[in-house]
Amino acid sequence: MNDCCIVGGGIIGLSLARELAGRGVKVRVLARGRGAETTSWAAAGIFPPSPLHAGILPADALTAWSDKLHRLWSEDLQAETGIDNGLLSSGGLYLARSAAGLERLRTDATRWRGRGAAAELLDAQAVLECEPALAGGAEAGEILGGMLLREEMQLRPSRHLDALERSCRNRGVVIEEADVRRFVVRGARVERAVTATGEISAGTWVLAAGSWTGGLARTFGLALDTRPIRGQIVLLRLPSPLITRIVNRDLDYLVQRPDGRLLVGSTLEDVGFDPNTTPDTVTRLLGVARSLLGELPGSVVERSWAGLRPSNADGHPSIGPIPDLDNAFLSAGHFRAGLHQSTGSAVLLADLMTGHAPHLDPAPFAPGRAAPPVGSVPAGSTADYLARTAAAGE
Ligand SMILES: Cc1cc2nc3c(=O)[nH]c(=O)nc-3n(C[C@H](O)[C@H](O)[C@H](O)COP(=O)(O)OP(=O)(O)OC[C@H]3O[C@@H](n4cnc5c(N)ncnc54)[C@H](O)[C@@H]3O)c2cc1C
Repeated sequence: MNDCCIVGGGIIGLSLARELAGRGVKVRVLARGRGAETTSWAAAGIFPPSPLHAGILPADALTAWSDKLHRLWSEDLQAETGIDNGLLSSGGLYLARSAAGLERLRTDATRWRGRGAAAELLDAQAVLECEPALAGGAEAGEILGGMLLREEMQLRPSRHLDALERSCRNRGVVIEEADVRRFVVRGARVERAVTATGEISAGTWVLAAGSWTGGLARTFGLALDTRPIRGQIVLLRLPSPLITRIVNRDLDYLVQRPDGRLLVGSTLEDVGFDPNTTPDTVTRLLGVARSLLGELPGSVVERSWAGLRPSNADGHPSIGPIPDLDNAFLSAGHFRAGLHQSTGSAVLLADLMTGHAPHLDPAPFAPGRAAPPVGSVPAGSTADYLARTAAAGE
């Protein structure tokens, strides 16, 4: 393979572009929207602990491997580009506000320990010793106890994307704005992409277009469940940082950046390709922050945004060759873990494309694999999370 065109300039497309270019492949990236317009930019950048353990699901093995790679990539990216992507082992605190919530944390802690992660159960007093700024939440009866995952990390998506883009350009990758409408296929080969302004030819093609991949894959007769699941975030600027750990409660979270910015997220909304925030949700998220941290004097809402997570049907992204085509591949459907799984996804697909033995069995990720049985809700799938959101009353 000597030249490759990747459709998609989010975390998945850029990570693959960097990896392929590092192996000597001439790479071109086509992206309709870049930087702040991608779901990747909109992410929170939470990396939960991801130890390898007996009986691990393939998706979790991909995360575990990616987690290791992220530590190496962060150092390499900083050395190559001078950009610090903010990878930080801040730890994660999970809070309960009811007896049922405490019971769930006990079950979760047992599960984490069984997998080999350090998980500590904390009473309300110990939670406050960890994060004194949660005193307001404790006084209001919002915190009965918690669980501490010391190995949880965070990364700043915008900086990571900037570092990836610069590294790609240093490696000779051409990144262009283009709106791909369809592909021209002759026999078993994709010949060219038809864009809004012309046509582009390439020897090899990769679809890495996030939530929009399903629409493009239909051109090849491939049914792929990458419909968008919206997530909203509010960004506050505080006079100084209040907490050090990522604070999670049910599906909501607070992520403190060292410069004082505080991300408050999020939602899981099956509302189609609507990239807008909604006033009700912004108000609700501000309420989450205040219910845990108190009135937040001196804080300013800097901005709010929404991103469209690419869903998957079985808890696994699709990574590999597109069935019945000789020169087309796909990497999409990373749903809630695309930042975390981006490094492993890039190396796995680059291995498959360049004829190297892959580190992980690619079969569970194969595009075109059998769909889960109708009515089943596999762990980690989009349906699983939507059901949990409904249960949490969002
Ligand atoms: C609120 C929120 C919080 C999140 N938090 C986390 C987190 O903490 N940790 C984590 O690991 N993940 C998180 N995620 C998930 C993560 O953001 C996604 O899984 C990931 O960004 C998907 O990356 P992608 O490159 O596949 O898609 P995208 O980032 O959406 O990139 C798709 C690219 O394809 C391009 N494209 C689309 N259609 C076309 C076309 N027709 N022609 C040309 N280009 C096209 C787009 O312009 C874009 O460049 C979060 C997501 C959201 C919304």
